[in-house]
Amino acid sequence: MLYISTRGQTRPHTFTEAVEAGLAADGGLFLPEKLPCLQDRLPAWAALGYAELAAEFLSLFGPEISREEWGTLTAEAYRRFDSPDVAPLRKLDDRTYVLELWHGPTLAFKDFALQLLGLLYKRQVRLTGKRLAVLGATSGDTGSAAIHGCMGQEGIQIFILYPNGRVAPLQERQMACTGADNVFAMPVPGTFDDAQRVVKDCFGDAAFVQEVNLSAVNSINIARVLAQCVYYVWAWLRLPEQARATAEFVVPTGNFGNVLAGWLCQQMGMKCGGFRVATNQNDILHRFFTSGDYQQGEVKPSHAPSMDIQAASNFERYLYYMLKGDQGRVREVMQCMKRSERVTFPRTDSTFRSSRMGDDEIPGVIARVWNEHGYVIDPHTACAFTDMAADRVSVVLSTASPAKFPEVVQAATGSEPLHPTLEALKSKPLQTHPQEASDSAVKAFIRAKQ
Ligand SMILES: *Cc1c(COP(=O)(O)O)cnc(C)c1O
Repeated sequence: MLYISTRGQTRPHTFTEAVEAGLAADGGLFLPEKLPCLQDRLPAWAALGYAELAAEFLSLFGPEISREEWGTLTAEAYRRFDSPDVAPLRKLDDRTYVLELWHGPTLAFKDFALQLLGLLYKRQVRLTGKRLAVLGATSGDTGSAAIHGCMGQEGIQIFILYPNGRVAPLQERQMACTGADNVFAMPVPGTFDDAQRVVKDCFGDAAFVQEVNLSAVNSINIARVLAQCVYYVWAWLRLPEQARATAEFVVPTGNFGNVLAGWLCQQMGMKCGGFRVATNQNDILHRFFTSGDYQQGEVKPSHAPSMDIQAASNFERYLYYMLKGDQGRVREVMQCMKRSERVTFPRTDSTFRSSRMGDDEIPGVIARVWNEHGYVIDPHTACAFTDMAADRVSVVLSTASPAKFPEVVQAATGSEPLHPTLEALKSKPLQTHPQEASDSAVKAFIRAKQ
């Protein structure tokens, strides 16, 4: 199994190399050269526990790591989740299931990928003897999940940029109150996309990447997408058999990494009814899936900050498939997007639907789901609860615990959602390292810490 770049100007990489590099040297994103077929494997997988399923799945994609070692890695990665199912599938009514993806250490779905990625980094440092500088940009959840995957790991330092004042206070605490001396939480002025641009510029400096052994931890690492595939298969195997072929997965979406993982499972033979890309008021993807137009607008801060994105970084992977693997076309289209030009595509793929939720609707939706089902959801998950398919099962991916967003949730339901992990953070000192939004400032900081 080798990995190619969406832009086609990088030699094929092994899984380990692709994970280590993060972004391909030509600026593209890694994808498996060929997707394996899951169909014949699925029946046997139904009996497996979560970590075992993850080991089976991932060993198809990283064959240079033995099945036994994958078993050790996934057992360790999902050990700290506070539910025995790791990703419990809850039934709200006959047509509505919720896949709870927030039982990991930072209470959001990104722990699924980043607990594992931290262990893959650790393995790499052990094998190569080289220290690693991990760099990423976050609008909240990625950064804290990445930090919790890497903190305290020998030979690794982690640098996380985030838009100052635009992540939820508890999210900032999750990043800046770890007390770990290999963790650097770095607020920068502007939006998430500004922070992301600085990170991309750092990775654009090949000499710097070499010098500090830089690895990307934002949503573009292929290991993240693959780790996220596992819970789609897990949920699908837990649905009533007659519901599986038509079930629609509904995914609160920002960078398109989560829903892309589900779509890849479908391409590999997990027969389901498709996907709904649920956006908040930052609706570039909703506009794309309804009109074929992909044009960036201004980011508007919302109650669901991890979806406040206008440049969905994983979209390029989907683009590669949409353009039938024509890497020259991918390069052209990405150039247009970089100049913020409007790009139009013919609508070809009916497996995706989309929806949009205005920011003022979110509290009402949280209240409605609470009243109808006695079930509390967070503002990201709330964006999924609209435009439900009438004739088939919906599986809503619940991406964060309501306890991470106490103000909105309390206003909607009347009681404050509490979680012991978050309560413990409130009394710890905040340690941040503010930066200018420029790659030269960030590079200097990283050099100084190496
Ligand atoms: C990151 C995140 C999302 C968006 O996921 P993408 O993979 O970026 O589409 C949605 N909800 C929560 C809580 C998140 O942390």
